[in-house]
Amino acid sequence: MTDLFVDITLPNNVTYKQPIGLFINNEFVAAKSGEFISSINPATDEVITKVHAAGPEDVDLAVKYARGAFKAWKKFDGSDRRDLFLKLASLVERDYDLLAAIEANDAGKPYDNNAKFDVDETLEVIKYLAGWTDKIQGKTIPTTSKKFAYTIMEPIGVCGLITPFNYPLAMSAWKLAALAAGNCAIYKSSEYTPLSILYFVQLCKEAGFPPGVIQVLSGSGMVAGDALVKHLGVDKIAFTGSTFTARKIQANAAINLKPCTIEAGGKTPVLVFDDCDFEEAVAWSAVGIFSNMGQICTGSSRIYVQDTIYEKFLAALKEHVEKEYPQGMPFEDGVVVGPQVSKVQYEKILGYLKAGKEEGARVILGGDVPSRPDLQKGYFIQPTIFADVQPDFKIVQEEIFGPVVSIGVFKTEEEAIELANNTVYGLGASIFTKDITRATLMAQDLESGMVWINSNNDSDIKVPFGGVKLSGHGRELGQIGVEAFMAPKSVHVNLGNNLTKL
Ligand code: NAD
Repeated sequence: MTDLFVDITLPNNVTYKQPIGLFINNEFVAAKSGEFISSINPATDEVITKVHAAGPEDVDLAVKYARGAFKAWKKFDGSDRRDLFLKLASLVERDYDLLAAIEANDAGKPYDNNAKFDVDETLEVIKYLAGWTDKIQGKTIPTTSKKFAYTIMEPIGVCGLITPFNYPLAMSAWKLAALAAGNCAIYKSSEYTPLSILYFVQLCKEAGFPPGVIQVLSGSGMVAGDALVKHLGVDKIAFTGSTFTARKIQANAAINLKPCTIEAGGKTPVLVFDDCDFEEAVAWSAVGIFSNMGQICTGSSRIYVQDTIYEKFLAALKEHVEKEYPQGMPFEDGVVVGPQVSKVQYEKILGYLKAGKEEGARVILGGDVPSRPDLQKGYFIQPTIFADVQPDFKIVQEEIFGPVVSIGVFKTEEEAIELANNTVYGLGASIFTKDITRATLMAQDLESGMVWINSNNDSDIKVPFGGVKLSGHGRELGQIGVEAFMAPKSVHVNLGNNLTKL
């Protein structure tokens, strides 16, 4: 198979040309490795297409072009870079429906109630980053009267950008911060969801990004990802994925002391006090774990409810989810919950459902696969609510990454904090109470990179995103997310500083 494009007809009857080659130096090319990976439709378990899979030689080639392109790209005027970003935004707007449909087909995201949100976010991030491109500035730093110093914020160089399957396009968009800061980017997409970024990168070319500035390698983590991380010509890695992979990446990146931004797993707790706005707490708790099929790094997979409203909360959450989270095929009207992204994830989650029941959790909702006959081929799992969980349960400690929530009870603030902090992760946490003093003080004690007070998971692209503990380090989004792709150079200017004073 040497084709570089295939015609794909989507379930909404739209036919489009899907690139399947590696995107190197602004062209789609066949992988020198001769290898392919299959993109599977998670709603049907059928192969959508095969795409070329990069091997070490392909990684080498992409790095060579990126290094060549970096010389000119780093000197681009910020305003020229801004124009490219704005043009790209207009092209994403033009192809909005198609991008959402590709994502829905490849990742199983409900088209209207999920995939379109990802394209919205992609668009917003591109516009936001356009705003940074011409505002990258160092500082002038007073030192002595005979000397001053200033910093220049320089791009780091060639960045390997490794993305997960849960938001293939949106997570790629976050990492465009690398380009906004003047670096060259080599993407390694998830082997489960390679299609949207291959389509998207055509838009980058159409917008006018020069050859070698943005390149995309599909392929497996163990081969393409591994080669990218270990490559001596790659200067930085920005990784989003599991903690398991993050450990390997950080160790492998040590080869040339590459800095790494690590956005890894999570086990977000939601703490619900009896003085909260009850309906709000229920609705936000649900959205944090049942949207995107629970495949959310900040997924609120643990909810702790004050003992006085515990049973009332369980009943209300069950009713809310039954009503607001209909399950079905990704292109079906009104559907909110689609299939999990892959068979591997599906089977892993089924294992957790079994473990939860065996450990003695009370099943309030779901707990199995849906009974609808047309959902049997795909990787569908019912939205599941487990109650009466204990801190040592496997379902409480491990990241399930599915539509499964574990609910426990607390009496006091101290107990709530202790339960919330009792995992290896520290990505997000959420508190529902009308007592803002209590919430603000508790936010200080929660071991997590992000805290939401009276909301949950409503991150904003202008605000830093990232975790502590085994959820990672470094931040994406916001100003800090752009600065993560820059190295300050300090320039000392001698205006007559006397050598003898050293
Ligand atoms: P994963 O770790 O399996 O894979 C992520 C990426 O790493 C993929 O592109 C994969 O091919 C690549 N990879 C795998 N092994 C590699 C290796 N040895 N060297 C280089 N690259 C390698 O994660 P996933 O299953 O795709 O995504 C789900 C995970 O991502 C969850 O744990 C979730 O919490 C996490 N996540 C975190 C954030 C965040 O911002 N903190 C956001 C989204 C997802």
